[in-house]
Amino acid sequence: MGRVPHMSNGEFRALGHQMVDFIADYWDALEREPGRFSVLSRARPGDVLRALPVDPPAQGEALGSDLLADIERVVMPGVTHWQHPHFYAYFPANATGPSVLAELLSAGLGVQGMLWATSPACTELETRMLDWLGGMLGLPGEFLSTSANGGGVIQGTASDAALVAMVAARERTRGQDAPAPAGHCELVAYASTQAHSSIVKAAMIAGVADGAGDRVHVRLIDVDSAFSMDVGALARAMREDAAAGRVPFFVCATVGTTGCTAVDSVGEIAGVIADIASRTPAPEGRSTGAWLHVDAAHAGAACVCPEYRHFLAGVERADSVCFNPHKWLLTNFDCNCFWTRDRAGLTRALSITPEYLRNAASDAGSVIDYRDWQTPLGRRFRALKLWFVIRHYGVEGLRAHIRAHMAAAADLESWVRGDARFEVTAPRTMNLVCFRLRALAGQDAVARDAMNKRLLDGLNASGRMHLTHAVLPGTGGGFTLRMAVGGVRTKREHVREAWGWVQEEAARATLGP
Ligand code: PLP
Repeated sequence: MGRVPHMSNGEFRALGHQMVDFIADYWDALEREPGRFSVLSRARPGDVLRALPVDPPAQGEALGSDLLADIERVVMPGVTHWQHPHFYAYFPANATGPSVLAELLSAGLGVQGMLWATSPACTELETRMLDWLGGMLGLPGEFLSTSANGGGVIQGTASDAALVAMVAARERTRGQDAPAPAGHCELVAYASTQAHSSIVKAAMIAGVADGAGDRVHVRLIDVDSAFSMDVGALARAMREDAAAGRVPFFVCATVGTTGCTAVDSVGEIAGVIADIASRTPAPEGRSTGAWLHVDAAHAGAACVCPEYRHFLAGVERADSVCFNPHKWLLTNFDCNCFWTRDRAGLTRALSITPEYLRNAASDAGSVIDYRDWQTPLGRRFRALKLWFVIRHYGVEGLRAHIRAHMAAAADLESWVRGDARFEVTAPRTMNLVCFRLRALAGQDAVARDAMNKRLLDGLNASGRMHLTHAVLPGTGGGFTLRMAVGGVRTKREHVREAWGWVQEEAARATLGP
């Protein structure tokens, strides 16, 4: 039996300090010398692989300066700098001092919070954080742990949240005590054409959809001119399905779509669901009414500001709602907050108790066991991240963060509108601006889209900034550039500078390939 070369606590302390210094130096450099970095990694496929040995080391080594040198040599060239002030792609993924420190503490404590009994602090801190955040977003009391049948939980991602919501909806519809005979209960889920692909994926995993392309069991509803779900079309689709004997069981309202942050009307969608339920006789043993899930993955963060809570108007009629503090609320990935008003429905769908997990507290029914609220069994102590972040920034600090980006995005929109070569391609609802170069004289939509793709590629290849695109539907749709203003370090002056680069690059893109 060989020696197990554990890292001594002294070595951990020394290297840990160096690692914290490394991160702080990196963040300093992003702030002070942003031009040193190519925001989008220039690595080509296989570059990182080639820099790594094919075989693992047989003998351990003392981690130290070699490791830090390898991080610089092997890892950093393959990093796209999500924390760079000129990162405008996708949605932001804020990483901040307090959340990273909480992540470190979570790792160091190394607890598994699957049951209350496996670490009471892990559960109870999470319960309180979800109540704090629910209050900060203005969610109705029915979603908080203090209500009779509601509460919140941290999921890994919005995709996980959609899946558990859909599974709860499936079980509620089928009725636990009256399972439908095979093939009898054909379930249908609804979301807009602009909803995130995680909704279709949830239906694939939940066994509702026969593959990604199944548009019988997942209906993607057309959007209006603001790219919000057309509720008339939703009502028609649900009626059609009910008339054909299928069961509308799940509707996702997206608040802040991925493409252009369009906002579906939660209240109107809830009205359609209620109307359909009132016309559909309830098969014995099954509940009527589709489960309404609100996916506010990105936009939910804005609702910490009272002036943006209107995005969630109607949420009091939803069954579940989620948002990702790991996007725009200064908490590093992963951290999705998910609330439901039907905790019993959720846990009925997800609970299974093998003997080895039985314990007195759970048996007494006096505690929350979050394993019953999620897909996996094990869970990390992620509530520490929310606790550190909310304590560090305070509610007012979080609001200031959101408001600064909203104002910078409004300025960006006005600069785009002020340059006749460009057009804004979707209503700006929050911190995302969608825009493109207008077609040149004689240019058709295909040539216009190609020109805008050249503009996007040129900007990304410059390394100075990173942004992504969307293809929006409808007559005014097509290829559009999107700039999401939400980085921890992104200030108005960065956005102004980046807009100058877009204008410069536009001059090249209009010249042709
Ligand atoms: N929903 C919306 C509206 C999103 O924009 C995204 C990602 O950007 C997601 C869901 C998926 O998020 P996650 O990576 O947390 O699953």
